[in-house]
Amino acid sequence: MQDRGDWGADPARYCPVSNNIKRRLIVHHSAGYRPRSSTEEKVTLRNIQDFHFGRGWSDIAYNFGAHRYLGLTQLRGFFCLNGANTPANDSTFSIVLLGHMSLNQITDEEKNVILDLADYLNIAPEACPGGCAIGAHQDISATACPGDSTMEWLNAGHPRPKACVC
Ligand SMILES: [Zn+2]
Repeated sequence: MQDRGDWGADPARYCPVSNNIKRRLIVHHSAGYRPRSSTEEKVTLRNIQDFHFGRGWSDIAYNFGAHRYLGLTQLRGFFCLNGANTPANDSTFSIVLLGHMSLNQITDEEKNVILDLADYLNIAPEACPGGCAIGAHQDISATACPGDSTMEWLNAGHPRPKACVC
């Protein structure tokens, strides 16, 4: 996992916490520019952090990022409560894709990052048999987030991409 220093994060202003079990990993998109390199991903993350600071928030809202070049990236990380999943922040984690995923297509790299993180978190699978502990922002709030291509994959049961035969 890329840590905060890798993308040049400013320190969080504070770290909200909750002892509640986090039962779901909620997927978001940034609904903005689709970065074309790791450098652009870092700039985009810093811009989102600035935007969220400007809203008076403690930090960039998401726990994690799933990126084409940086891979899995620590945003708030595991410990600080996410701010993206209102009204379910204290029972969920969040992960963000960079781009507008109705105009852009979610890639196999991004899918694998989400699936690997969900496996690692092992977020109460008994609460959601069949591995459906991965959810969408639009499951909990009136929004088009995380975009059509993400929803197509989630609604298909978020299958693991086939390994490339190289
Ligand atoms: Zn969202």
